[in-house]
Amino acid sequence: MAAYLELYRVGKLRERVETALSLLESCSVCPRSCGVNRLSGDIGKCRTSRQAIVSSYGAHFGEEAPLVGRYGSGTIFFANCNLGCLFCQNYSISQLGEGHKVDKEELAYIMLSLQEKGCHNINLVSSTHVVPQILEALQMAVESGLHLPLVYNSGGYDSVETLKILDGIIDIYMPDMKYDDEETAREVSGIRDYPEVNRAAIKEMHRQTGDLEISNDGVAQRGLMVRHLVLPQGLAGTKGIVHFFSQEIPRNTYVNIMAQYRPCYKALQIPDLGRRISSAEFREALSFTQEAGLSRLDRIHPTELLPILSQ
Ligand code: SF4
Repeated sequence: MAAYLELYRVGKLRERVETALSLLESCSVCPRSCGVNRLSGDIGKCRTSRQAIVSSYGAHFGEEAPLVGRYGSGTIFFANCNLGCLFCQNYSISQLGEGHKVDKEELAYIMLSLQEKGCHNINLVSSTHVVPQILEALQMAVESGLHLPLVYNSGGYDSVETLKILDGIIDIYMPDMKYDDEETAREVSGIRDYPEVNRAAIKEMHRQTGDLEISNDGVAQRGLMVRHLVLPQGLAGTKGIVHFFSQEIPRNTYVNIMAQYRPCYKALQIPDLGRRISSAEFREALSFTQEAGLSRLDRIHPTELLPILSQ
């Protein structure tokens, strides 16, 4: 049973919606704390005002295996982002804002339509800056029968205060861990304190949901999954990030070490980001996970490996 159904049953879901919406008045939905009034149409760093913008939605079969199952993960791609990663592979959505504005009725309808298709979950992609909008739509969707688990799929720059509003609502957290180093985070994503904020967020996500639980038929039910994209020249600080897993949250955490980096958007502004990773760099990243004793790694897609093996 999805976590939010219990909150709804005891009449507490609406309170969470109101608390989240109040953050928009002087926006502190994410750690950027822009302070703009999104209720009256102002925009901050994420370029999103009162309404969320949806780029696309549908059953997705390219996500992590426990999310996809047999019938796909019900992804909703939100446009814009609270990060400004120079290499973003989805930059037309995240940076250029491709999509259309949705009100709570339409967003609730989208959630219900994904459930109708048979998807295993509602996968909220780039969700950080639209938490209040997601919650007000959720309230409506639950009233109309939504019961699928929610996947909070973020770049990992999330505020612990906002995450606490989501306690008991989100079943599966899937944040990125992008960088281990402040200077790289500043240069590549425009946020110096990413490593510190990201680690605090991941600990809070794990506190709420624990290690990933998977049903007998291989579908994720609840828990934390973490994504880490290996960058050229060790820029992502894979060793330090893996060390964090081995020291500060259980080694049983489900981790996806990704090899699919390719230069996109403004990546060529940083010379080290101007190429794919090499097979040696990816092997080294995997060796760090072995040294640290991480045992739950996502399957590595052949399509990720082919480009680096053929270099
Ligand atoms: S959600 Fe957007 S407007 Fe609000 S603090 Fe974050 S970046 Fe700024």
